[in-house]
Amino acid sequence: MRTRFAPSPTGYLHIGSLRTALFEYLAAKSLNGTFVLRIEDTDQKREVPGAIENLVEILKWIGIEFDEGPHAGGNYGPYIQSQRKKIYKKYADELLGRGEVYHCFCAPERLEKMRAERTAKKLPPRYDRTCRSLSKTEVEEKIKRGERYVIRQKMPLEGETTVRDLLRGDIVFKNEELEDHVLIKSDGMPTYQFANVIDDHTMEITHVFRGEEWISSFPKNILLYRSFGWTPPVFAHIPLILNKEGGKLSKRQGDVAVEDYKEKGYLPEALLNFCILLGWHPKEENEILSFEDMKAKFKIEDIRISPAVFDSEKLDYFNGYYIRQKSLDELVELCWPYLKENLKMTENRKKKTEFLREVVALEQERLKKLSEIGELTKFFFEDDLQYDQNLLVWKKLTVDDVKENLKKLLSILENISEKDWKKEILEKTIMEFLNVSGLKVGDYLWPMRVALTGQKASPGPFEVAEVLGKEESLKRIEKATD
Ligand code: GLU
Repeated sequence: MRTRFAPSPTGYLHIGSLRTALFEYLAAKSLNGTFVLRIEDTDQKREVPGAIENLVEILKWIGIEFDEGPHAGGNYGPYIQSQRKKIYKKYADELLGRGEVYHCFCAPERLEKMRAERTAKKLPPRYDRTCRSLSKTEVEEKIKRGERYVIRQKMPLEGETTVRDLLRGDIVFKNEELEDHVLIKSDGMPTYQFANVIDDHTMEITHVFRGEEWISSFPKNILLYRSFGWTPPVFAHIPLILNKEGGKLSKRQGDVAVEDYKEKGYLPEALLNFCILLGWHPKEENEILSFEDMKAKFKIEDIRISPAVFDSEKLDYFNGYYIRQKSLDELVELCWPYLKENLKMTENRKKKTEFLREVVALEQERLKKLSEIGELTKFFFEDDLQYDQNLLVWKKLTVDDVKENLKKLLSILENISEKDWKKEILEKTIMEFLNVSGLKVGDYLWPMRVALTGQKASPGPFEVAEVLGKEESLKRIEKATD
């Protein structure tokens, strides 16, 4: 089995392309096959420098690596289409010789006019085949005169073409509806429709996975294989990915570049787990899948054809899950880039590394993205915590009540030694005091928590107090009473 990932070098990896690459990778790996990277850069206007390196790097970060490709070598190169022009020319000439394709000299202006006229007549705007009937001499003369031309595929004019998709079975197309599409552009570059077939064949690709949007050109591709007398690979057209509103995922809405997800602190495990479920599902209920599980369980036949819905809450859920699975050391390391700024704010906190570990440990449970850790934990690092004072006031309490309550808490907390400054002891001591005196928990713990954090929502007051240490905690509560 040989599969390939065939992206255009656009400069970023679309999350839908990641899903395709993952399916192709798993299909190959589940059968000990080979996974090839081929760069489809025939549309040179879209070329972005450094794009190939970035692509390889981001996929490697995810855990997907190639056996062959422009960066890895292999026996089927070159793996970049713009370097394969000679190969395409050879095969195009072969088809010209056999009359399977033809030169078309129609200028862009003529094509535009023709399309407009056909549309006005409610006809499909496809090419009207004017040049298909040019004689050999006419063609030779035009070429001699230096007229620019493209090469078009000759579609059968009647009958039907049946193609087989692995997931959908046979699909039948009426030949009269197929356009004589362009295979070689006027600059000599092949189109996707040509290069893709030549490359998949010459690179001995056995299975092609590509988006459903390619189904309409599928019969043309198959006819091209037949023109050459080649056996086509197995094709599986994978479902579209829609947003929650049922529309197309677009770059405009942000959130399509895998690089952006990485930047925001999504883990590769979460992205993989999320992506595989866009069109595939394990037999059992449990949707948490490690890369190893995927390799063991993935079967091409089980890919679904109904559209997949991109649910970013689900991605957050997976990310939170995988964050919770990390050891504290790993998580501190992962959070480090997002905490650097916070650390600059504090000079006098206890040993920084230990402090950092404690802060991260406290947030591990509720963290959804690594990038949130900076904002979530800023209050730990601030030497002069600023917040809206009204936040200290719990429900029906007055400002004076709050002041009193915090003072009472201070007098208790002062008596707890540094050594005993642990969340369990803090909790036990304060809860005992509240229970014995018949006081309401919220009236005390809310102001205490706000005094320590300045936040509407945060981890509980005892955990925060332990991490802040006695001196800093008392300082903050005193400040609140002021
Ligand atoms: N270059 C094509 C794309 O990015 C590849 C489609 C295919 O896999 O054949 O959509």
